[in-house]
Amino acid sequence: MKIIGLMGGVGSGKSTVADILEKKYGAHLIITDDIAKKLYEKGEEGYHRIVSYFGNEILSENGEINRKKLSEIVFADKEKLKKLNSFIHPLVMESVLDVIEEIKLANENKTKEQQVPYIVIETAILIEAGYRDLCDTVWYVAVDEEVRKQRLMNIRGYSEAKIDAILKNQMSDKDFSDNCDKILYNNGELYDLEKEIQFLLV
Ligand code: ATP
Repeated sequence: MKIIGLMGGVGSGKSTVADILEKKYGAHLIITDDIAKKLYEKGEEGYHRIVSYFGNEILSENGEINRKKLSEIVFADKEKLKKLNSFIHPLVMESVLDVIEEIKLANENKTKEQQVPYIVIETAILIEAGYRDLCDTVWYVAVDEEVRKQRLMNIRGYSEAKIDAILKNQMSDKDFSDNCDKILYNNGELYDLEKEIQFLLV
């Protein structure tokens, strides 16, 4: 089994690549955003850590964390953002390690045909949060600025200012390419992307 790490800036096509790997190649997806989201739920370890630091004022009436309020607070204060990350990132990492271990164990009792052939780790912060060491290979999904902007504006309805603000807080194209093993160019049609993936897997 091979562990593939996916990285790339906002809207570059990470989820699209992960989806192809899952549907066409039977990969098991680990999406760190989904794991993190769950940690904010009432009763979870992440929830307790966040509420004890940020206080009850970040809670909605139903006692759930008000994500909008929390993100406004950390967006305006780098130290608080660091603190929030220090609560959430280690818990996400723990959960990722557990999933990998479970799949490895399950694979041991299966025939080669039944085994999970790939685990894909999809995360916006593969390098920053230390996932690189878990991966056998890291792919950088690269896309030209204009193509990305058009897709995010047309499909997700993002404004240009919103895209620029997100990109400012992410690694640069050069940092991504310096830190990856392979680059997947996603400027074309989905068919082209599928071909590139096929090429990288052989
Ligand atoms: P985020 O950083 O927000 O998690 P992402 O890197 O996972 O985004 P995707 O969600 O895969 O990016 O892609 C962004 C948008 O562009 C999606 O709506 C997706 O359907 C579309 N898209 C991705 N690749 C292509 C392509 N080759 N052709 C057309 N649309 C595409």
